[in-house]
Amino acid sequence: MSVVTERPAVPSNEPTFRQSVDLMFNRAVALMDLPPGLEEKIRVCNATYTVRFGVRLRGKIQTFTGYRSVHSEHMEPVKGGIRFAPEVNQDEVEALAALMTYKCALVETPFGGSKGGLCVDPRQYDEHELEQITRRFAYELIKRDLINPSQNVPAPDMGTSEREMAWIADQYRRMHTTDINGNACVTGKPTNAGGIQGRTEATGRGVQYALREFFRHTEDKAKAGLAGTLDGKRIVVQGLGNVGFHAAKFLQEEDGARITGIIERDGALFNPDGLDVQSVRDWIVRHGGVTGYPDANHTAEGAQVLEAECDILIPAALEGVINLGNAHNIKASLIIEAANGPITAGADDILRERGVVIIPDMYANAGGVTVSYFEWVKNLSHIRFGRMQRRQEEARHELIVRELERLSDHLGDKWSMTPDFKARYLRGADELELVRSGLDDTMRIAYQSISEVWHSRKDVTDLRTAAFIVAIDRVAASYRAKGL
Ligand code: NAD
Repeated sequence: MSVVTERPAVPSNEPTFRQSVDLMFNRAVALMDLPPGLEEKIRVCNATYTVRFGVRLRGKIQTFTGYRSVHSEHMEPVKGGIRFAPEVNQDEVEALAALMTYKCALVETPFGGSKGGLCVDPRQYDEHELEQITRRFAYELIKRDLINPSQNVPAPDMGTSEREMAWIADQYRRMHTTDINGNACVTGKPTNAGGIQGRTEATGRGVQYALREFFRHTEDKAKAGLAGTLDGKRIVVQGLGNVGFHAAKFLQEEDGARITGIIERDGALFNPDGLDVQSVRDWIVRHGGVTGYPDANHTAEGAQVLEAECDILIPAALEGVINLGNAHNIKASLIIEAANGPITAGADDILRERGVVIIPDMYANAGGVTVSYFEWVKNLSHIRFGRMQRRQEEARHELIVRELERLSDHLGDKWSMTPDFKARYLRGADELELVRSGLDDTMRIAYQSISEVWHSRKDVTDLRTAAFIVAIDRVAASYRAKGL
């Protein structure tokens, strides 16, 4: 089976992804006052399990290699996605697991950090074959409690979606038929199989909420040389998959941003007047790439568009795409890391020196794990959010509306409510609205916590270091409370 490698080459003089995360961690830790030895305990990855298993496909046994890495168990279960990609390796999975630890601490989800990956190019297999491969991988992890509602709870990542999560949940239930909490063994499931409304788009939605919160901070905006609102801002996005598509679509449709560039595997589209995100996505689904899309300039050298003139750059595909080779040429004054690790440690140094503001991955893409947390709670409580309160809330609103109507009868038509207000006010919140509210609140509070460190400490000059400090401080507090 041929395996396509499409990852852009990171210059060989750069550290690996895991080393890059550690370098950024070290920069933050140098500004903290941790008890001796605790720094190393937090930084290192606790364990990585490698599995090699065979699946009989197309008349012969094919052997696959997969990983599940547990970075920190200061809280359990540990949490982190499962990635399907041909280049998955131990270093990458460990880097991603470490980022999960810091991310969960930053957005206050009660989890340690983990990540999994399987070396497979999903586009080379049909649905039935992928189900066999996924179930077999899940079987190996489940029997070692590396998938378990109280110990280790995966979610989707690059190359996986709610479909794979449904197979994993079903596999777990087959192996633990009496576990009443079985559905909580994995998040990101379809809503008809134990999932929660709003999870599919949660990471992209979180990117939108993160940008909105950034734009509410006038001083922070000014540091990026930006002013006003998101309306009309020029955005280039790399990767129109789950995260990139939803982020770009919401920013375009709800905030009036102009998506001037879209970079995909087979090149990039550019149109200074803006691209229609939904129509580009529909084109990709039909044609397998962006090539041939009308109403835009196309270049086969997609990565070059990372260097295009724009206000905001959203790398939402994979790690290491902004590196020593192109960091000097990036024109955006604000980069929001929707992907994990898109900027190498070396590029981070260059961009910081150039005054580019970077909203770091551990915060920017935390919307996924936040809504995963809601899904996990929903699964454990066995009840949909809002089911108990919704009609009661509506009844209380009805009381107020009736009273206002009674008053307006006395005061005359001028004082009557608009029908739109009445309808909107009367409606109790459903699950999707509650999920969005919880996500918005989480993204706002987490941003405020890092922005505060950024502003209050003279030795902290960037949001990434501030985010690491907030996260590491919380993990350290958790270890101290345990008596370690
Ligand atoms: P996905 O597989 O749905 O989408 C990835 C997209 O990137 C695809 O459209 C793919 O064609 C494109 N792509 C791949 N290689 C490319 C290249 N060289 N140049 C340009 N485009 C390329 O994956 P996703 O779930 O959207 O994840 C994207 C990133 O976001 C990853 O770094 C992942 O770890 C991170 N992330 C995802 C989630 C989630 O909930 N899915 C949560 C947090 C972080």
